[in-house]
Amino acid sequence: MKTILVFLLSSCVLLLSKLARESVKSSQRKCEELLEQVCPTCGSEHLSKNGSTHHGKPKHQCKSCGRQFVLNPTKTIVSKEIKQLIDRLLLERISLRGIARVTQVSWSWLQEYVNQKLARTPRQIRVSENFSGRLTIECDEM
Ligand SMILES: [Zn+2]
Repeated sequence: MKTILVFLLSSCVLLLSKLARESVKSSQRKCEELLEQVCPTCGSEHLSKNGSTHHGKPKHQCKSCGRQFVLNPTKTIVSKEIKQLIDRLLLERISLRGIARVTQVSWSWLQEYVNQKLARTPRQIRVSENFSGRLTIECDEM
């Protein structure tokens, strides 16, 4: 009888200590979440909720500088290698959605990337006046 009581008591102590450890962990997590809630531009803590993204993540707005952002973003920066691959794929006349799927970039990012490329492309072709011979102009789609 005594051993059963000792066993029950020790298992209760174990359970309580485990619970205490988990509550400390969860409060640490809450503290970390609160610490991370600063503006990525100016570091201000004066933030307000500002709706949500189309993926359902809450958006915040800094009251000091006005920047809008998502806390703990999952977005990654597209590497130079991926951009070079996209440039090559664009010349192969593959659809933007196909390129987005293959390179795993978002379709909206790719659309913006292509628009920026188009904006940087010169609109006029310079042809020298003292050109002799037959003039051949080749144009290709972006
Ligand atoms: Zn700010």
